Amino acid sequence: MTTEIRFVRPELARPAPYRWQDNVPPGPVSRFDMNTLPLSPACWPEVAARVARLESCSYPEAMYRPLREAIGRYAGFDWAQVVPGAGCDEVLLMSGALAIGRGDHALVCKPTYQMYAVSTATAGAALQALPPLPGLRLDLDALVERAPGARLVWLCSPNNPTGEEVPRAIVAELCTACPGLVVVDQAYLEFGGDDLSDLIATHPNLVVCRTLSKGWALASLRVGYALAAPEIAGALDALRPPGSISLQSALAAELTLAHADEMRADVAGYVAERGRLRRALEATGTEVLAEAGPFVTFRLDLDSDAAFDALAAHGCVTRTFGHEPLLAGVIRVTVQTPPESDRLVAAVCAVTGATPPAAEPVPAGHDRLWGRRSTVSRATRETQIDARLVIDGSGRTAVRTGVGFLDHMLHALAFHGCLDLDLEIAGDLDVDEHHTVEDAGIALGHALDRALGDRAGIRRFADASAPLDEAVATCVLDLGGRGVSVIDLALSGAPVGGVAASLWPHLLDSFARAGRFNLHLTARGADDHHVVEAAFKALARALRSACEKDPRRAGTPSTKGVL
Ligand code: PMP
Repeated sequence: MTTEIRFVRPELARPAPYRWQDNVPPGPVSRFDMNTLPLSPACWPEVAARVARLESCSYPEAMYRPLREAIGRYAGFDWAQVVPGAGCDEVLLMSGALAIGRGDHALVCKPTYQMYAVSTATAGAALQALPPLPGLRLDLDALVERAPGARLVWLCSPNNPTGEEVPRAIVAELCTACPGLVVVDQAYLEFGGDDLSDLIATHPNLVVCRTLSKGWALASLRVGYALAAPEIAGALDALRPPGSISLQSALAAELTLAHADEMRADVAGYVAERGRLRRALEATGTEVLAEAGPFVTFRLDLDSDAAFDALAAHGCVTRTFGHEPLLAGVIRVTVQTPPESDRLVAAVCAVTGATPPAAEPVPAGHDRLWGRRSTVSRATRETQIDARLVIDGSGRTAVRTGVGFLDHMLHALAFHGCLDLDLEIAGDLDVDEHHTVEDAGIALGHALDRALGDRAGIRRFADASAPLDEAVATCVLDLGGRGVSVIDLALSGAPVGGVAASLWPHLLDSFARAGRFNLHLTARGADDHHVVEAAFKALARALRSACEKDPRRAGTPSTKGVL
């Protein structure tokens, strides 16, 4: 024992911390190891814009009342029964501190999530970890048998990483048998499984823990919560370190929770893709142990480090469990995008020597997740631009250019084009609007060009008109790769929306050049505002049609064979 370690509690002197994978190889890799989703929620641009306006100098609200109410509405509980924490992990630590101390012991079935052992040790108690039955099944009968002697029973349903669900009858039995708390971690509930939280009404020693990191795709915020009977919830809440959820995270979580239907639609897409990945792995002859939450668990005939290294060599970072001998060769992967699933299956084939199976088509109906998208960051001495564009979007936008009327026009373009657009520009508006307006067009063009990729299968040509009161605009466009524009806006010459009249055709021309499309746009009217707005709407409608996939066309939409 070193001199310093004498000052530390013996059970914490040699910590076995829970840490996610920290040996990620350099270079472009796909992260299958984190059990987090690949995309932010659809509402994230708007939410982030709201959060960005918060001041940095204040603590969060002491009681987190608005956040607790928002969680309560989603989960069907009164706010006083909701205990938020910095991730489900903090709630698990708080639950351990509430239920056990020196001389107590907690129970858990192996193999499961590591934080229950960490929480037990942090509380100073002992952990009895029950070994699994054949097939890595949780020994729930042994758990029930021992529950009368324990102060805390840990459960995870569906279990990470074996996917097993704990039947509600067993949970009820454990609550009756255990003289202390029964904590059920339902971090993956959004992906399916029996919601056990209604048992709290009849079993006041039950605590159900959940998170916004998984189905809600908010892992960066670190927000989780427990649901419990009012008195238990009050005692648990008192254990949270002051302000452990930042002001920004609390607001972002609260705002996102208003979008449960969108979350459910995304989760349905991930579950469908999870099934595609599982079937592909099975088709390679791989032993698949579980498909649950956002993950698929399988086994390779290698030890954990060798399995990790072999797949990492093919750019696939996976979760292996070197600390747990029961899980030798077991690999857990989180569903990512369909091309990444295919990359993983190819990597498994390369490692095992299996024949790659024919790729199953990607489940349809989830354009928001798998549709064409791009990210552009562009910095010059004049502007700094960050843009994210989803072509197959639904018109959700957050545009912040510093020029109000430009925001209005780009919002109209995205909305009527059914594009999702998140665009932020910090431009040299102290000089004038020129660089900001011009560079907005260039960045948008680059984003469109990138998101369109090889442009295979698109309709390519489209024309559309749009009126606005006395004004009317007509747009004809060709996404054929030639950045040429002919723009004729009948403007009076005075600034429109505080922007020089000449900048509007210039913006549209910059967009067409950088986006490599041919744009003919004409607009007439008496009111300059109407003329410009009609032009953007006509462009939006035409763009939407031209970008659409043509069900009768598979390859390049050109007689030349290239665009
Ligand atoms: N519970 C389980 C079962 C988990 O797998 C994880 C994270 N991998 C967590 C809780 C942690 O959730 P959070 O991000 O909310 O701390």
